[in-house]
Amino acid sequence: MNLDVNTLFMVTIYVEAILGLLLLFAWAQNTSIRAVAWWGFAHLIRAASVVLFGMYGAAPDLITIDLANALLFTAFAVTWTGARVFDGRPVEPVYLVTGAVLWLLVCRLPVMADAVDARALVASGIITAYTWLTAYEFWRGRSEPLVSRWPAIFMLFAHGALFLLRTPLVTLLPWSPNNAMFGSVWLTVLSFEALLFTISIAFILLAMAKERTELRHRTAAMVDPLTGISNRRAFLQDAALLAKRHSGHPRPTAVLLIDLDHFKSINDRFGHALGDRVLEIFTEAARQSIRSSDLFGRLGGEEFAAVLSDTGREKAVAVAERIREGFAQASQEVDGRPVCATVSIGVVHCEAAVLDVPELLAQADHALYHAKERGRNRVEVASLDMLLDRKDDKQPSVPTSATSVAAIGTKSAA
Ligand code: GH3
Ligand code: MG
Ligand code: MG
Repeated sequence: MNLDVNTLFMVTIYVEAILGLLLLFAWAQNTSIRAVAWWGFAHLIRAASVVLFGMYGAAPDLITIDLANALLFTAFAVTWTGARVFDGRPVEPVYLVTGAVLWLLVCRLPVMADAVDARALVASGIITAYTWLTAYEFWRGRSEPLVSRWPAIFMLFAHGALFLLRTPLVTLLPWSPNNAMFGSVWLTVLSFEALLFTISIAFILLAMAKERTELRHRTAAMVDPLTGISNRRAFLQDAALLAKRHSGHPRPTAVLLIDLDHFKSINDRFGHALGDRVLEIFTEAARQSIRSSDLFGRLGGEEFAAVLSDTGREKAVAVAERIREGFAQASQEVDGRPVCATVSIGVVHCEAAVLDVPELLAQADHALYHAKERGRNRVEVASLDMLLDRKDDKQPSVPTSATSVAAIGTKSAA
């Protein structure tokens, strides 16, 4: 297949310009991800540089080589800056223009005037540096779970490696690098690769921005903003998934319902902001007492719940006690104020084949009610008596299985 370099140049200019405008259009629709605008401008700058390259022979080398390359390097620097902005890092104006300035200075050196290979090496080095720096920025932000981050890192790394190897490859290959035909083939290969790269990277960057927006929406809908743990909706969704898995492999499971004691009075005495702080301290204390694989969520206000898998009655009570004691300890003094907050916990455990978490929460709520009644700062286990109480009260929900109710006494903390 013969690919005419001039045709490739024309196609590249159009493609770069269209991709640049596409990214700017995407940014205008969702301005919260500013990096997309940087990436859009990078493509437009690259389109301008290819226009200058295309004028080779018709305009002075100063424009078609020196300036064109300076613009090309700036385009790569702008993409790199976009990657920094994407992950919340500051713009580095000096490094943004370092490549272009370095190149223009190198071009002014008399020894470089005819050293085509050396100039090509400098140009490749600058492109590789910016491309790898961009890959590195995305790598640094990898704690954000975006799937499209990985193809972006791979593409950038591969593109940088190709540019770095360009000059050594040319000298290693059996054909003479001075051969005009070979030079033209090599230029075609590079231009074609650059075209494919620019198309792929534009769509990958766009996919990253889109994925982040979706992730943020999902997170906002599922995570409690104050404590960073699952909100009621996420907790119940996760519990439903757990129940599905449970039916395949039934295991003893415990549910804890936790409510902070006299929390209204904490707000009244110390202020709402300190109340918020106490909720954060509780979350931290509870997290330290449960496994990361357990479900834990804020059901609302000062009420939390946990589902502990592979946990029988004794172990569940021990965990609840650890949470109660850990929080009492951690909240003795908050921001220099003597808060001494406590929690009451209702526990229920289930060994049935069917795990009905809403039902278990209702039973745990009953145990919690008893804990409050019996003086607070206590752990109570759901018992058969409580169940009968509920039936007498004609409450709508009933246990799905008798084995899901722990017909054993209470555990007092006081
Ligand atoms: P009890 O021991 O019976 O549970 O008493 P309580 O005061 O903890 O319970 P009550 O339901 O009367 O009060 C709950 C309080 O929690 C009232 C509400 O203002 C407060 N609250 C709910 N959500 C938040 C929050 O996000 N931050 C703060 N600071 N307070 C909250
Ligand atoms: Mg309360
Ligand atoms: Mg409450």
